[in-house]
Amino acid sequence: MKLATKIIIALLLGAVVGIILNVTSPDLFSKLNTFLFGPLGTIFLNLIKMLVVPIVFFSLTLGVAGLGDPKKLGRIGAKTISFFLITTAIAIIIGLVLALVIKPGTIGTYDTSAAEYSAQKAPSISDTLLNIIPTNPVQAMAEGNMLQIIAFSILVGLGITMLGKKADALLKVVEQGNDLMMYLVNLVMKFAPYGTFGLIAGAIGSQGWDAIKAMGLYMIVVILALFIHTIVTYGAAIALLAKRNPLTFFKDFSEVMLVAFSTSSSNATLPVSMDVAQRKLKVPEPISSFVQPLGATINMDGTAIMQGVATVFIAQVYGNDLSLTQLLMVVLTAVLASIGTAGVPGVGLIMLAMVLQTVGLPVEGIALILGIDRLLDMIRTAVNTTGDAACAVIVTETEKKHGKIEAPHSEVSV
Ligand code: ASP
Repeated sequence: MKLATKIIIALLLGAVVGIILNVTSPDLFSKLNTFLFGPLGTIFLNLIKMLVVPIVFFSLTLGVAGLGDPKKLGRIGAKTISFFLITTAIAIIIGLVLALVIKPGTIGTYDTSAAEYSAQKAPSISDTLLNIIPTNPVQAMAEGNMLQIIAFSILVGLGITMLGKKADALLKVVEQGNDLMMYLVNLVMKFAPYGTFGLIAGAIGSQGWDAIKAMGLYMIVVILALFIHTIVTYGAAIALLAKRNPLTFFKDFSEVMLVAFSTSSSNATLPVSMDVAQRKLKVPEPISSFVQPLGATINMDGTAIMQGVATVFIAQVYGNDLSLTQLLMVVLTAVLASIGTAGVPGVGLIMLAMVLQTVGLPVEGIALILGIDRLLDMIRTAVNTTGDAACAVIVTETEKKHGKIEAPHSEVSV
C-alpha cells in the first residue's frame, strides 16, 4: 500500500475514533489521549522536527553552492518574494470579500461580554528583519531560528562557491549530509500513519461540538476561502506561469498536505515537503532548498485568509463597519502578520491581535474564535505549505529559459 493511502486511512480512522470517544466517553478519551494518542503524535512530531534544522542547513548550503552564481540567487530570490507577497495579498482579499458578502458575524448570537483575551506581544516587523543576521549561528540552530539559519546557510553556500576547489571536501560533506537527511526523512515517514492517527484522534476528540456548531458559519467562510485560493489562485498560477497541469501538481503534493493537516505546522512539514517537491514535482534541489524553507517561515496564505475573515467577523460581531481605508489597512497588516507568523501551531491567531489593533477592533474578539481555531489551523497549514511548493514549481519552470540548474555532483537537474 502506498504511504499516502496509509496516511489517509489513519487520518479517517483517527477522526472516527476521536468523534466516537468525544460523544460517548470523554473520560476514556482523556485516558487514551494521555497514554496513546498524545505519545503517538509527539513521537512523530519530534521525529520530523528533529530533521528540520539539519535539512535546511545542508540543503540550502548545497543549493546555493549549486547555483554557483550570486546573480541567479538574486533573481530566484526576487521571483520568490514577489510570488509570496502577491499571493498572500490575493489570499486576504478573497477572505475579506467572502466575509463581507456572507457576513458570518451578523447571523447568530455571540456573547462578547464574557470574551477575554490578552494579546501576547507580537515581535515588531523591524526587529524580525534586523534579526535575520545571526550573531551566533550555533545558537540560531539550537533555537531553530529559521530566518537566521537561512541567512547563514546562504552565506556558507556562497563562500563554498567562491572558494572553488579549495572547499571541495567541504562541499562533499554538505552533499553527503544532505543525502543522509533525505534518507532519514523517508525512514521517519514510515511512522507517519501512526503519528497521524494519534494527532487527529487527539485533536478531534478534544473539540467541543457546541462551539463548532455556534461558529459554523465563520468556519465555513474560512474553509471556502482556503479552498478557492488553493484551487483558483494556485491552480491558475501553476497552469499559466509554470505551464503544468494543476491536477497532477495537487495529486503529487497531496501526501504533504496530509502531513501539514495532521501536524498543523509548516516547519514540521518542511522535510517531507522538500522531499516530495524534489522527487515528485521535479524541483531541482537548489530551488527547493531556497524557496521552501523561506516559504515555511514567511509565506502563510492560509493564515492570512483566516486573519482577513476573522477581522471582518469580529468587526461584524461588535457592530463595527470597516471603511475601505480600514480594509486596505487589513490587507497590509495581514500580509506583514503572516510574514511574522512562525510555522508552528496556533501562532496565526496570536498575530491576528496585531491586525485587530491596527484597525481599532477589540482584541478580546479573538476569544470568540479561539475554541475552534485548532481545527482551522489544520486546514490553513495545508494551504500554507501548498503555496510554497507552487512557488517552487513556478520558479523551476521560469528558470528553465536561463539554462540548466543542477546541484553539484547530483543527478537531479532540469
Ligand atoms: N500553523 C500555521 C503553520 O504552521 C501557522 C498558523 O497559522 O498558526 O503554517
